[in-house]
Amino acid sequence: MTLRANIRAMKGYTPGEQLNDPGIIKLNTNENPYPPSPRVVEAIQRALTANNLRKYPQPLGDQFRQAAAAVLGVDPEAILVGNGSDDLLTILTRAFVPEGGLIASPTPSYILYQSLAEIQGARFQTLRFEADWSRFAEIPAAADITFLPNPNSPSGTVVAPEFLAQLVQKLEPRPLVLDEAYADFADSNGLHQGWSNTPNVILTRSFSKSYALAGIRFGFAIARPVWIREFIKVKDSYNCDVLSLAAATAAIQDQAYFQEIRAKIIATRERCAVQLRALGWDVTPSQANFLWCRRPDRDLKTIYEELKRRKILVRYMSYPVGPTGHDDSPYTGLRISVGTDEEMDRLLAELKAIV
Ligand SMILES: *Cc1c(COP(=O)(O)O)cnc(C)c1O
Repeated sequence: MTLRANIRAMKGYTPGEQLNDPGIIKLNTNENPYPPSPRVVEAIQRALTANNLRKYPQPLGDQFRQAAAAVLGVDPEAILVGNGSDDLLTILTRAFVPEGGLIASPTPSYILYQSLAEIQGARFQTLRFEADWSRFAEIPAAADITFLPNPNSPSGTVVAPEFLAQLVQKLEPRPLVLDEAYADFADSNGLHQGWSNTPNVILTRSFSKSYALAGIRFGFAIARPVWIREFIKVKDSYNCDVLSLAAATAAIQDQAYFQEIRAKIIATRERCAVQLRALGWDVTPSQANFLWCRRPDRDLKTIYEELKRRKILVRYMSYPVGPTGHDDSPYTGLRISVGTDEEMDRLLAELKAIV
């Protein structure tokens, strides 16, 4: 069998650890610590009939599109449903990037974009952030697609609105994908700023974090309907199943519950950032549901392992280079998801004991 050389050569994306130990405090993959809306469970139970399982789901998720359009104030035709937002990133890559093409994304950021380039047989260009994460050190040469997670992971930061405007204009007509997996935890987002109606901008959203539905696998993209119609040609015909569509529709319709858990996570995030700083950590101000915590005076791998021994799982991350203004040694930190207040109190107590 002759495997494509780019597949053989690639390492493959490594997802965060998913341990099945119920006693563990899991702060490593940015899941929501709260359950989804009770209406989601009811909707899944209602949808779970033999007849629904027998039939194919709606290919475009019409009901979800209607519900999301009403909540977000966009055209239903501007919405594309996805099997998690990773599915949408794959669809966009397949739609825009030829073999030998170019994908650009900032560093440090989401590692998956590089895997998408490798699978596609495309080149990959990393763009360094400025030291304060507000912009790239230089605006890229035209890539076939540019991915910008905003808020970014692992930093939890958003870029300056004027930089975003510059970037969109500079890339025009080439596409900029604003990966808004964490935008619900930020003060502002691409929809507020009017980017969804710009010809070369595509927004992607995830239900895994802010809607507490990582197990369901659902996300959606927002772009001009002329683009969405093209992306529909690329996606699997039935990329979202009947249960995830029912769940996502119920979730987006329960905005009161969504706002309640969102507010709790933001309050916990702000409190913990202050407390971690008081313990000597360098904590980047976050617009997401996690905190990027560094301390150059300690070996963070050891602290990560010590926490794990104490049944608290965080994400240890090390990048070959950091944002500009850092030295050229590897750039490392702990990315800590915001859990419940009780979970974060345990984390703070253990960190105090360890360090
Ligand atoms: C979690 C995450 C995603 C993936 O979300 P899913 O909807 O679970 O596929 C995409 N982009 C970033 C930056 C993320 O952190």
